[in-house]
Amino acid sequence: MDDLYRENILDHYKHPRNYGTLERPTYSREEHNPLCGDRLRIDLLVEGDVITDVRFTGRGCAISQASASMLTEELLGKTVDEAKTISKQDILDLLGIPIGPVRLKCALLSLKALKAGIYGLDIIEDDEDDEL
Ligand code: ZN
Repeated sequence: MDDLYRENILDHYKHPRNYGTLERPTYSREEHNPLCGDRLRIDLLVEGDVITDVRFTGRGCAISQASASMLTEELLGKTVDEAKTISKQDILDLLGIPIGPVRLKCALLSLKALKAGIYGLDIIEDDEDDEL
C-alpha cells in the first residue's frame, strides 16, 4: 500500500501539476523551509470567490514539491472559504505515507504558503481592471 503512495509522490515530484506562475495572481505567497532548503511559491487567481487558476513553483525535496503539486489539484475550482478549511491532516492524507517530525515542515510548506497567501499577509495590489 505504501508503495503506491510513494510512487504517486515521486510522480508528482517528477511531473509537477500546475507548475509555473500566474501573470496577475490574486494571491501570491512564497515560503521556505530553512531546515531542508525547500522553497515554494503559490499563485492563486480568484474570480468571484472561486479559485479559477493556481500555479506553484519551487525547488526542494520530493515531499515538499509533491505536496504542493497535490494541493494545487485540490484547490482548483474550490471557493476561498473551502480552501481555508484545508487542514494539515488533509495534506498528510494526500501524501498517504507516514511523515516523521523532520519531514513535517516539508510536507506542510505548501499549506503554509496557501494560508499565508489567502489570509492576505501579502495581497498583491492590482487596481488595473482593463482585462476581462
Ligand atoms: Zn524538504
